[in-house]
Amino acid sequence: MDAQRTLRRQISCVGIGLHSGNKVNLSLKPAPADFGVRFRRRDLGGHDVPATVHHLAGIQLATGLACNEVSVETVEHLLAALVSLNVDNVLIELNSPEVPIMDGSAAPFVYLIQEAGVKPLQAPRKYLKIVRPIAISKGDKRISLYPSEHFKVTYSISYDHPLLRHQSRTLRITEESFIEEVAPARTFTFLKDVEMLRQNGLALGGSLENAIVLGETGVLNNALRFEDEFVRHKILDAVGDLALVGYPVIGHLVAHRAGHALHTEFAAKILEDAHCWRLVEGSSERALSPVSVPVKASAH
Ligand SMILES: [Zn+2]
Repeated sequence: MDAQRTLRRQISCVGIGLHSGNKVNLSLKPAPADFGVRFRRRDLGGHDVPATVHHLAGIQLATGLACNEVSVETVEHLLAALVSLNVDNVLIELNSPEVPIMDGSAAPFVYLIQEAGVKPLQAPRKYLKIVRPIAISKGDKRISLYPSEHFKVTYSISYDHPLLRHQSRTLRITEESFIEEVAPARTFTFLKDVEMLRQNGLALGGSLENAIVLGETGVLNNALRFEDEFVRHKILDAVGDLALVGYPVIGHLVAHRAGHALHTEFAAKILEDAHCWRLVEGSSERALSPVSVPVKASAH
């Protein structure tokens, strides 16, 4: 049996919110089978916000969720680390609306999960296996999912900037490849946009410690972690946003110039297009056995 997993023990860290600049305490706690991934705002009396597309809210520069007027922001890097390290059930406690930005990548969250350790639970994991293509597009932004035996992502980006024209990469996402090839890739921004964000009271916690900043003639940070760190970070964002379907996906995600708004709209469309996928127990390497479990309903 391919079992659901949770953390072995609680683990905590402190960071700052990218937009507020406020200090944030984050704790990851073990949770029982079929609990899923839920955020809990300790500063607001402990209301839960399940990490599913049913609770999407405020998708602009990052992905936000809300439930009963309780919100959490910038969830995508943490969700990408959890789904890629096969943590199905976890309670994420915060004392602030923003998940801390850490270094702008998912590597610190991978480290936290590895420090806590992961253990199996007495319940089978269910995967959402794509059986027919699903696609949406807006202008030249596109995103689609195709049947595949593995979870793969192909991402391409192009910007009108001398240092960042076109980058494209295909990766099969496994725990190992995520940790090595995707998690360390940092978020990026353009210097010309930083001032505009600050004037709007955003990115107050942003610095060269937590984002790659592209000036007109060069990267303001000393060095990139990968030559194509930008497109790798887009893969990271897409993996995190896709996690909001509530199950690990088996399929080939292909995206061009998309962003959080399109990723999350697409995640919601996947659940609506129920004829395009089925829930299976066990990943593709094993015998597939369809299960007749309904999509997790929004009970909150
Ligand atoms: Zn990101």
